[in-house]
Amino acid sequence: MKAKIAEIFESVQGEGLYLGEKQIFVRFFNCNLSCAYCDTKLDRFTEYEPKELFEEIKLYRDKYHSISFTGGEPLLYADFLKEILRLTSGHGHRHYLETNGTLFFELEKLIDRIDIIAMDLKFPSSTGMGDLWQLHRKFLKIASRKEVFLKAIICQATSEEDLREALAIIKEVSPSSVLVLQPNSYENQSVLHEKLLNFKEIASQQGVTTCVIPQIHKIMGLR
Ligand code: SF4
Repeated sequence: MKAKIAEIFESVQGEGLYLGEKQIFVRFFNCNLSCAYCDTKLDRFTEYEPKELFEEIKLYRDKYHSISFTGGEPLLYADFLKEILRLTSGHGHRHYLETNGTLFFELEKLIDRIDIIAMDLKFPSSTGMGDLWQLHRKFLKIASRKEVFLKAIICQATSEEDLREALAIIKEVSPSSVLVLQPNSYENQSVLHEKLLNFKEIASQQGVTTCVIPQIHKIMGLR
């Protein structure tokens, strides 16, 4: 059983509620989606067996908050991931999964070994893709058995209608989860500012907690 891994490195988490935490990053190659704003341009990978990846992870000896399994979409390699989670959990590592929140069947296979889930909510008006609400609803239902927070990229094109749909799902499935509103780093931030404040106000009226958190690693020039 092999997985395509684009890179393994240590850095600090650049987005979401665990911003600034030191992590080992394992970035999987390939994704099942094609978001208009995607900046994860992966063009090379190395194939690993679970044991080979485990040996490489063991080379990182500092104190880390967790291992971040990211991508691409790590759940494309669910069986591999399940095995690597089994190997690393014997060594006291916490497991942080960064996912686009669509492959719910794959999540079910390994949810027991995940500690924190950073789950995207893909707004059709932001991604330029079709509606993924049903997949997100099923995914969040499983994810909410563990610690989960949600992230949505906010662009100039993002609609209030999509925000309201996302809020309805959070209220229905996991009402205590926080929604991180992440401004698209490639758009004019001052133009997005007003939209973010408006979205925060709408979420507050709906009883959903939101935070506006930009991608800090891009601002700081980190990996
Ligand atoms: S889910 Fe993430 S990696 Fe996949 S296309 Fe969208 S932004 Fe890119």
